This record gives sequence, C-alpha cells and structure tokens, in this order.
Amino acid sequence: MTEQLFVEHSLSRIGGTGFRVRVLDDALSTGNPPVAAIYGEPADDCLVRIHSRCVYSEVLGSVDCDCHDQLRQAKELILEEGAGVIVYLDQEGRGAGLLAKARGYVYSQENQADTFASYRALHLPDDSRDYASAADLLEGLGLTRLKLLTNNPEKMKALELRGIVVKRVASIVPVSEAAEAYLEAKRRRGHMIPTLDDH
Ligand SMILES: [Zn+2]
Repeated sequence: MTEQLFVEHSLSRIGGTGFRVRVLDDALSTGNPPVAAIYGEPADDCLVRIHSRCVYSEVLGSVDCDCHDQLRQAKELILEEGAGVIVYLDQEGRGAGLLAKARGYVYSQENQADTFASYRALHLPDDSRDYASAADLLEGLGLTRLKLLTNNPEKMKALELRGIVVKRVASIVPVSEAAEAYLEAKRRRGHMIPTLDDH
C-alpha cells in the first residue's frame, strides 16, 4: 500500500458523541473525493458500508430508490455497535454522473424501461462505479477483516481483491412501491437483495 494522503477532522452529531471524517486527497478522483465517516474506534470485524452518492433520495427526498434508507440504516447499525465506517463515494448514477442519471430517468419514464435498459439505450455503461478508493480508505484504517453491509457483490469483490476478508451483512430496508421496481431491476443484475418473503 502506498502512503495515503488525507485530511481528517471531527464532526458533531445530535444526541451523542461525534465522529471523524477522513477525506482522501486523491488526485485521480473526479468530483468530490472519497470520504470515510469513522464512528468510534473501528477495528477488525467492525461494520462497514460503502455508499455511492444519490442526491435524489438523500437530499431531495425521493422514494424511487432505497439509497437514503440504506445510508440511514447503516448509520443506525454502526452507532448501535459503537464503531464502524461509512465510505461515501461521489459516484452518482452508478458512476455515470447526475446528468446521465437524469437522462436515464427521462428514458425510463417515457418508455417504461427499467434503469439498466435505459442506460443501455443511451449507450451508458450499466455500472461504472469503482471501489478501489474505498479499499484504500479501509486499508488505511488498518482493517483486514470487516462486515460489509451490502447487497452488491461487486463491492465485496473489490475488497477481497485487496486481501480484505469480507463477511456480508444483507442491507434490508422497507421500500416504496416505486423503489421495488428499481430493486427488481437490480436483482436481475446480480444484486443479492432479499424480497419481503425472505424475511
Ligand atoms: Zn438512489
């Protein structure tokens, strides 16, 4: 591992002790650099979430997807355990960017196509997200084994390729009817998302 450049400071939190953020000084990243939110004193086997930005649900309140609830749940579970990490990546629209995501929405709404079909129709890659910087941040925190809160096998693979031992914890959140169609599309693309019948 090469020496990592980052900027780290603390943040306050309502109703509890604060947490730290570590912002990667990464010349290769486009958009905002990757950031790790560090709760407590993370050690091996702690709970980790790698999360890609979704401005529609996280900031604007959309219920077309489950991103906001997954992020909220990750924070709650980590705070319950007392320590853990959320790595937040500026990879809007599965890495294609916000404009591409918006164009995908238009195509989906006009053609009743799911998000992946829309991306293909617009000649966009299905999923161009990259998790190398997340692995960098987790390695930098000294983690060699962790519990990853995810339904996405690509995130597990990215960490395992770096020698990090990953135990998956399914990310299960109640979703709206609109989001259920989105999750069904993700299931068809290999995401291990439990259905309500599974639990
Ligand atoms: Zn979303």
